[in-house]
Amino acid sequence: MIELNKTHDPELRSWVASANRPGNDFPIQNLPFGVFRRRGQGELFRGGVAIGDCVLDLGRVHAAGVFSGLAHQALAAANKPELNELMALGKPAWAALRQALSQALASDSTMQAHLAGALLPQEELEYSVPARIGDYTDFYTSIHHATSVGRLFRPDNPLLPNYRWVPIGYHGRSSSIRVSGQRFPRPRGQTLPPGSTEPVFGPSKRLDYEVELGLFIGTGNALGTPVALSDAEDHIFGICILNDWSARDLQAWEYQPLGPFLAKNFATTLSPWIVTLEALAPYRVPFARADGEPKPLPYLDSVSNAEAGSIDIRLEASIQTGAMRTQGIAPQQLSCTSFRHAYWTAAQLVAHHTVNGCNLQPGDLLGTGTQSGPTPEEAGSLLELSVGGKQPIALVNGEQRTFLEDGDVLVMRAWCDRPGAARIGFGEVSGEVFAAPAAGMSSAG
Ligand code: MN
Repeated sequence: MIELNKTHDPELRSWVASANRPGNDFPIQNLPFGVFRRRGQGELFRGGVAIGDCVLDLGRVHAAGVFSGLAHQALAAANKPELNELMALGKPAWAALRQALSQALASDSTMQAHLAGALLPQEELEYSVPARIGDYTDFYTSIHHATSVGRLFRPDNPLLPNYRWVPIGYHGRSSSIRVSGQRFPRPRGQTLPPGSTEPVFGPSKRLDYEVELGLFIGTGNALGTPVALSDAEDHIFGICILNDWSARDLQAWEYQPLGPFLAKNFATTLSPWIVTLEALAPYRVPFARADGEPKPLPYLDSVSNAEAGSIDIRLEASIQTGAMRTQGIAPQQLSCTSFRHAYWTAAQLVAHHTVNGCNLQPGDLLGTGTQSGPTPEEAGSLLELSVGGKQPIALVNGEQRTFLEDGDVLVMRAWCDRPGAARIGFGEVSGEVFAAPAAGMSSAG
């Protein structure tokens, strides 16, 4: 567990004026990492840190030679199109860089003259997936989501007995992961129409989103050597927002007996910024389960995990249909919840993933699974909000939705806020689905 230090001081202010604006996602207490380049300049992507409405170019900070020791080494590792090298350096290097950046960006810093040239306005930038993601695993940590979805797919048997013991997950696909702004065609596939005994082929009619967080692995573990729960957080570099787009009709037909496949692997969208575990330290909360829930097996249980294993990260999903965009109507909130309601903690996911000897590598991504809270309004998917498509959701302009239609943009935001700490945000992840291309796909010649 990370102790609070000077970088978390809520009184800290930056010489970057926009970072001090109340409600902004990137105050000096945050300092999230991403990769960026100036739009239209033909530049390479490289590492940066968001501060107010700007990005600090870590390559330029490195070139300025103003840091020393581990922090300087970390800057060199961050000046790459992917952050895997920085992730592999480990917690002491991440902490040294954070401390150096915090001092350099603070209002009493003497480095302002050296660093002002390394600040770029976010409005001029574009982003990339912040790491080369070797492997992507998606978990299923919300018992509220698992129960609601289980009820729709298996009314007689909503929650399978293993759920309360095993952090359920599946190995996903990393090749279709993109950064915020992703546009993708509606997936096609096999579905079984209601009342039919034979499937049909065509565009998905029940396209959905899933509100999730993504955990980026920092240092990995050797094949055959599990990560103990007590060390698990040292292996997590940070957290981003993740939208696990899902084709529910494909899913219903294909998922038994081996789980999700084509219903999931056509697109996954990430927010550009990774908020470090150290930045999240002020928002730790006890890992609490409802009365009557079993105690985890010993390898998934510890005093520190029970006392502060969960994190209160608020998560919100909003929709803007094509018509809303034409009418100039802002995205409409669909739901809001918190990661604190998850049935398993981030540390438990790492400990469980490696307990059989499986090796995680720097830049691997672990999705938390859909985050749905205890009340129906906190559901993190349309499948739940529309009760399996039976209760349409009313939109402000008179439209309705059960599932996503072509031209819909889905926006997710996340933030942490509590009295006595600075509010920090994750920025946003947005994505848009467009009509499936005409059947026949690409033609040869
Ligand atoms: Mn998912």
